[in-house]
Amino acid sequence: MEKKPYRVLLYYMYVPIEDSVEFTREHKNLCQDLGLKGRIIIAAEGINGTVSGTVEQTDQYIETMKRDPRFADMIFKIDDAEEHAFPKLKVRHRKELVTLRLEDDVNPNELTGKHLSPKEFFEAINHEDTILLDARNDYEFDLGHFRGAIRPDVQNFRDLPDWVRENKDLLEDKKIVTYCTGGIRCEKFSGWLLKEGFEDVSQLGGGIVTYGKDPEVQGELWDGQLYVFDERIGVPVNQKEHIVVGRDYFTGEPCERYVNCANPECNKKILCSEENEHKYLRSCSSECRTHPRNRYIAEHGLTEKEVEESLLGMAD
Ligand SMILES: [Zn+2]
Repeated sequence: MEKKPYRVLLYYMYVPIEDSVEFTREHKNLCQDLGLKGRIIIAAEGINGTVSGTVEQTDQYIETMKRDPRFADMIFKIDDAEEHAFPKLKVRHRKELVTLRLEDDVNPNELTGKHLSPKEFFEAINHEDTILLDARNDYEFDLGHFRGAIRPDVQNFRDLPDWVRENKDLLEDKKIVTYCTGGIRCEKFSGWLLKEGFEDVSQLGGGIVTYGKDPEVQGELWDGQLYVFDERIGVPVNQKEHIVVGRDYFTGEPCERYVNCANPECNKKILCSEENEHKYLRSCSSECRTHPRNRYIAEHGLTEKEVEESLLGMAD
């Protein structure tokens, strides 16, 4: 197989960064000089990034980072790619690497759930006392997830603690195993679960991405695709079989194609076929379909009459 010319990197590290605002500025210059694109968050508590670039550019980036003792042990998850996965570079300074906004913050270097290797995770989730909790958002879950996992009904990671408190009976006295895309959300979330009083809490080390690349488990028991926050949107995980779990928003048919609702004020992610995108003007509701700034209508230059005709053909 021919080597692909680009790569997508995914990485994070919880490590104190002094003068993190200045570090952010310098880091942006470094990435710009290298020609990387992507999204990097820097905080006083560490770094969280996903970037794309050529093999050479990403190699240089990894080498530069590893020369800094703070990031010498940082793990880079690497996907081969045909091209850049991001339209531009954003390097931002934030208060937190992942937005949880806890009143009483958790330092994952002091408190976090037990890290499970892919093999240990595979064994744990086959155990009947285990509660497998997806630590991601609903739209990520809907495209793909581990078989038997619980889907917290949250659109934002920061809502997860409230969801746990409201659903305490599901989790009490159970072995809790959490997972997320690359592992960073679980670092904090599993620590918070322990602080909250749950005693047996583990997390999938390196996240779903690492699990899918593991030569032994090969992504087994994962269904659907992994939602990623770049232009690829979905990537495969299970190397042994592919079971589609995504469902078309309009018809309920198997579907793995995400679009954003054309109402700019809604922007909801909906799974739908190309056919239904056109039939429903890429809008999640009749309110969104008739929104004065509907992007689908603008893109296709539809007249009022054409919109009316489309609406007539719909049940909703
Ligand atoms: Zn909508």
